[in-house]
Amino acid sequence: MEKPAICGGTPIRDKKIAYGHQYIDEADIQAVVEVLKSDFLTCGPKIGELERKLCQITGAKYAVVCSNGTAALHMACQAAGIKEGDEVITTSITFAASANCVRYCGGTPVFADINEETYNIDPAEVEKLTNEKTKAVVAVDFTGQSVELDRLLAHCRARKLVLIEDGAHVIGTRYKGKCNGSIADMTTLSFHPVKTVTGGEGGAVLTNSEEYYKRLLLYRAHGITRDPEQMEHEPDGPWYYEQITLGMNYRMTDMQAALIISQLDKLPVFSARRKEIVKTYNEAFSGLPQIIVQKEIPESDTTRHLYILRLNLSKLRIDRRQFFEALNAENICCNVHYIPTYYFPYYERLGYHKGLCPKAEKLYQEIISLPLYYAMTDQDVQDVIGAVTKIAEYYGV
Ligand SMILES: *Cc1c(COP(=O)(O)O)cnc(C)c1O
Repeated sequence: MEKPAICGGTPIRDKKIAYGHQYIDEADIQAVVEVLKSDFLTCGPKIGELERKLCQITGAKYAVVCSNGTAALHMACQAAGIKEGDEVITTSITFAASANCVRYCGGTPVFADINEETYNIDPAEVEKLTNEKTKAVVAVDFTGQSVELDRLLAHCRARKLVLIEDGAHVIGTRYKGKCNGSIADMTTLSFHPVKTVTGGEGGAVLTNSEEYYKRLLLYRAHGITRDPEQMEHEPDGPWYYEQITLGMNYRMTDMQAALIISQLDKLPVFSARRKEIVKTYNEAFSGLPQIIVQKEIPESDTTRHLYILRLNLSKLRIDRRQFFEALNAENICCNVHYIPTYYFPYYERLGYHKGLCPKAEKLYQEIISLPLYYAMTDQDVQDVIGAVTKIAEYYGV
């Protein structure tokens, strides 16, 4: 059996492979340069163009683009009316922003456990945790696989809760034939460079509700309106505008918007390549008893943002940390998504403690995120598979 590099063998490759990387082509660069030569660097025509394009791609009625995915989540919680004393149910296997957005509004995140096969929030847990203080659900399409929208929506309608979908991973995915973004009350996107489509930074909220749309526009720009119908006082001149609530400056620049518009033209090829890599990984790993492959639900036609390697620790002599370090020694850079949010000291100080979500905590002990991005070559993919296989077999029991 071949020796892994961590115990003296030869690494599977000489050069490190990154865990994630953006793909920027000449068209992307030209799109940004054109904006730089134009009259508007912000609040210009690229903003509306991107919003129309997102609606056209997803089928959502309205889109409000903003500075990043976290800002999108904050605006969505504000539009949903979250305030002190309100409870919002979310998952802990996510980036901290999915719960932080509730805290920005003074609300209380409540962590529901996951489905142990898909790793997404378990609708049965959401139903159990709902009480008279519950106002909303922030459901994360973890790895890009859609949450169980039918069941979550039915529950939210019955209990008058707002369903916010944290779709930072979900662009390109369809649930029962409809694009995610056109189904929940509000869906947020992120255009951070590790995500499938990037603007450097950037975010968006998609909704079918005109009421949410109008509120989102206000929160994006200081709570200021120029619409006389929304004003409380008579305008005293053509310059007049009114601040009618407290909003932020969460605007996106036209450079970001132009880059995202250009990137979205490549979404079909980005999506196809990601699906191809996931299929190759799944086929290679389903034959290894040391690895558990994430369950794919038939309702979700998934463009995967993350590939989670889950270790079957009962079949291995090493733990996740040792496996991670062994992959690093092979020059395969990895990551872990995610540390349960309530493990962080900020949340501990608020009274959250270990043991809240046993399935999420068990998952956290067993996972490593492998490289998955458009710019990976077939050789890169084979090197990752080779390294995982070598380590799994060497340390297998
Ligand atoms: C990336 C991400 C965010 C935050 O997006 P930013 O654009 O980085 O602010 C929120 N939720 C999830 C699940 C994410 O992966």
